[in-house]
Amino acid sequence: MKKNNYKGFSSLAIHAGHEKDPMYAHLTPIYASSTYVYDEAEQGSRRFSGQEKGYIYSRWGNPTMSEAEEKIAAMETFQLEKDGKPLEAKAILHASGMAAISSLLLATLKKGDKILTHYSLYSGTQDYMKSLLEPLELDSIIVDLRNLALAEKHLKEDASIKLIYLETPANPTLQCVDLQALAGLAKKYGKITACDNTFATPYLQQPFKHGIDFVVHSTTKFLNGHGTAIGGVLVGTDLDFMNTRATKTHRLLGGNSNAFEAFLLINGMRTLELRMQRHCENAMRVAHFLSNHSSIEKVNYNGLPSHPDYAVSQKQMTHPGAMMSFELKGGFDAGVKFMNKLQMCTRTVSLGTCDTLLSHPASMSHSNIPKENRLEYGITDGLIRLSVGIENGDDILNDFEQALS
Ligand SMILES: *Cc1c(COP(=O)(O)O)cnc(C)c1O
Repeated sequence: MKKNNYKGFSSLAIHAGHEKDPMYAHLTPIYASSTYVYDEAEQGSRRFSGQEKGYIYSRWGNPTMSEAEEKIAAMETFQLEKDGKPLEAKAILHASGMAAISSLLLATLKKGDKILTHYSLYSGTQDYMKSLLEPLELDSIIVDLRNLALAEKHLKEDASIKLIYLETPANPTLQCVDLQALAGLAKKYGKITACDNTFATPYLQQPFKHGIDFVVHSTTKFLNGHGTAIGGVLVGTDLDFMNTRATKTHRLLGGNSNAFEAFLLINGMRTLELRMQRHCENAMRVAHFLSNHSSIEKVNYNGLPSHPDYAVSQKQMTHPGAMMSFELKGGFDAGVKFMNKLQMCTRTVSLGTCDTLLSHPASMSHSNIPKENRLEYGITDGLIRLSVGIENGDDILNDFEQALS
């Protein structure tokens, strides 16, 4: 891995991981090749034994995918040190955020191990733990990890807990958990930690800085930034583990990415800093606008001092980000009406693209879930989920103003 001594984040996002192309192409091409050739049989031997560096088969690795991986590893460790030396990490690109989470969980856990996690997680991750891990005797303990005494009680009492799995900020109420405090507890009791950093991106939050062992992302969101490809990444600073158990799991699970989607991801990540700055600036304006609007009951944004996790968010993030949710006073019907009146902003699920995206979980993503159950996750009838885009801020506010009137 090359040393990156850049002063600024964008220099890294643009240049890290880029290798001069043998054909002098400016950008790393889409290496659409499933396999790689050898000059002679002996070279094949050396490649397979690891004596000689080189690509073998694209499920295992590919030059376009490598550039994306090195950029992400560099961003997650930007300006971080360990024992007076630059902190190093290895990233493994996957087909999706869920594939990266699968690799993490299957590489780190064995039968009988437990996961300690917070109740506010991405719904797919929660479903994965329940539907796929529980039958393998890998149980999850789901508690409010903002209560550190409760977290410690579980760690002290249950020796079978192996991994603390975190996501911060998290859907839909933007709850934040304290990375440094939980990483500290994990070290005290000999556990490992992982954080889904999708909402924040490494530009706003670096979990490794706070002692977290593994980072996962759905690169589909802010890292790609344009909604052009599904992807995920697993990043770790234990290079031995990443090069052995994690690499083996990734290769055998078959959740590899591909050159085309890696190419789209690389291009998206080059502008991450610029995009995040505008996303964040617009989000702060939108949050203030909504919290002062008479049709709005409540705004959930970790950047408002009224949010219960404001202090934790201020401590560990450089800016609270561009995700929020809000409750309309008129409940379900008001939610549907508001969504239908939007003119510029986009009605969809997902997040992190250039355009402002809104969804109404009660009538869309969570419409098949009984009301009592969705209320447990804070999904009320009038809740709108919002990913603030990078359009002109006035245009976003104008669209909301007319849709709320
Ligand atoms: C979207 C998302 C995922 C899942 O990622 P995919 O790329 O859709 O597989 C995981 N975590 C969070 C926080 C997400 O937003």
